[in-house]
Formats: sequence, C-alpha cells, structure tokens
Amino acid sequence: MAPKKKPVKKKNSGRVPLENNAKPEDLSTLSKKELNERARKFSKQYRVTDGDKFQLKKYSTIPDVDMGPEEKPLIKQTLQLGVEELAELQDKMYAQDKWSLLLIFQALDAAGKDGAIKHVMSGVNPQGCQVTAFKVPSAEELDHDYLWRCQKNMPERGRIGIFNRSYYEDVLVVRVHEPLLQAQKLPEKFVTEDIWENRFKDIRNYEKYLYRNGTKILKFFLNVSNKEQKKRFIERIDNPKKNWKFSTADVNERNYWDDYMKAYEEMIRNTSTKESPWYAVPADNKSYARMVIVSAIIKAMIDMGLEYPKVSNEEIADLKATRKILIDEK
Ligand code: AMP
Ligand code: MG
Repeated sequence: MAPKKKPVKKKNSGRVPLENNAKPEDLSTLSKKELNERARKFSKQYRVTDGDKFQLKKYSTIPDVDMGPEEKPLIKQTLQLGVEELAELQDKMYAQDKWSLLLIFQALDAAGKDGAIKHVMSGVNPQGCQVTAFKVPSAEELDHDYLWRCQKNMPERGRIGIFNRSYYEDVLVVRVHEPLLQAQKLPEKFVTEDIWENRFKDIRNYEKYLYRNGTKILKFFLNVSNKEQKKRFIERIDNPKKNWKFSTADVNERNYWDDYMKAYEEMIRNTSTKESPWYAVPADNKSYARMVIVSAIIKAMIDMGLEYPKVSNEEIADLKATRKILIDEK
C-alpha cells in the first residue's frame, strides 16, 4: 500500500486580498465583538508572521477597497470607531500594568509615517504613550551597539511606545549605504558578508526576549509606490506649509529605490515572527493605511486579554464604607 501523502502545510507567504473594489461598509451598527472581528480579518491580509517566502511584489501599495471621494464620510467614521476602541484598550493596558506595546514604523520618505502616528494615537491618553524618532546616530550613539539607543526608549509596562524609525535602519539605510556601516566603528573581524544575516538573528532574539518580558511588538512597513512618493515630494515643494518637510537629500535616495526594496524585502523575510509580525501596509492612500494600522493594533491588544485589575470582596466592602463616610460628611 502506498504511504499516505503528508498534507502540505500552507505557509503565510502571499496575501489573500479581499474582493477587488469592495465598497467600505457602514460599521456603526455593529457590536463591539463584530467590530473587533472585522479589525482582525481586515489586518490579517497584510500581516506577515512567517517571512520565509515573503515577496514584496505580492503586496500592493494601493487599497483593495474603493476609497473615492463619495466614500469619505464612511471612511472617517470607520477610523473614528477604531481610534475610540484603541483608546479604551489602552486605558485597560495602563490599568493592568503588565504588557507594553511597541509600534515600529519604517518606510521611505513621504510614505506617511508621521501622519499615521499622529492620527492613530489621536484618541490615546498621552500619559500612556511615548514617541521616539530615530535619526542619523550621534557620536555618543555610534560609540555603542545599534540597539543601545532603542533599548533606552522601550515603553514601560502599561504603555504604548512608538518608534518612528528604529534599529531596523541598521539593516536598511546602513545596508544601502556602505559608508554608514564604516561609521559604526565595528572591529573589522565582524564586518563580513554575514553581517546582515547576523543582525537579523540578533534582532529576532532581541524581540523574542522582549516578548517574553511582556513587550508585544508590531512592525509597520508603509509600502508607498515610487510614483506616489514623487507626487508627494512635488507637493512638498509646491505647498509653502510643507516646504520644511522637503529635503533634496530625500530625492537623491530615489536613485537607490531598488536597493531599498531589496533591503526591505530581506528584512521582512528574516524578522517576521508570530509574536512580532510585520505588516506590509499599502501606503499610497493615507486613510487606508491608517485603517490597516488601527485594525492591527486593536487585534494585538485584544489578544493580550487585557482586563481592569479585579477588586477583592474585602476591598469592595472598604470602598462601600468609605463611600458612606463621604456621603455622611457635613
Ligand atoms: P527623518 O526621519 O526624515 O527625520 O530622517 C531621519 C534620517 O536618519 C533618515 O534619513 C534615516 O535614514 C536616518 N537614519 C536613521 N537611523 C539611522 C542609522 N542607524 N544610520 C544612519 N542613518 C540613520
Ligand atoms: Mg526625512
């Protein structure tokens, strides 16, 4: 008798898109449970948990849903619902004081990182979150390993930490521009062709360590197209209020577009895990990108099983007695 064929295990290599040109739905009548289920489903298509076969070209830069002007009110409403849910979850996380959440944003310039951070966190209590932007490393930072400056800014328990860029720059811009690696002053014996593989391994281990200590990490790659980036750069030149955001150096980076795409693809392939997934977020439409991000955060926070700390019967009796004292006060 022929041996039974083992079922082929399906890997999360490509994404399963929603129906093409689906219309955004009115979510206002849904229960909380139904809403959260939508968030889970919606974000899933962009989540990469096992990067082995990840191919950037399979992930679109444009939405699956019709985002035309007539859909604006519904999209606004959906985002509002998401932001409100996020605020509630964050309140619980803060009260529970066990988990922390780290949101990492990586993208090429003008992909919408700053706007997404501003919008997604708009409903969250500022006491419960902290944002850190990582720029070209200072002399002091270059005198340490590349995780040092990030470790110093990890969110406390109960808080949301946002990294606008992160240690992932050390396998992106530093990989694309050789002189930046030289500037890191590593002993020569460690600067070999294995350096990127080794960094991926170190990052995976580091994130596993953080997770086991209660830090959930979500990583967002805002996937903007070359054409859309060009359009946004021109807008930054044409609109005086946006001039400050424009830098000629950013435009020069367009010459390295393919190198960056390759570096992003390899990074996602090597550092996507079940506990700390990457999301390849279509970023040519800003509202859509924000919907994906909010949904992904809601999903992750629900999975934490957050609850307000329980009060014992004794404590309840105490509360009641104190209440009586307050009421009886003259
Ligand atoms: P921005 O976020 O637009 O203010 O720009 C910050 C700049 O810092 C970007 O060009 C990044 O590529 C750069 N940057 C961030 N981290 C590093 C790093 N580890 N090494 C070199 N450049 C970096
Ligand atoms: Mg910039």
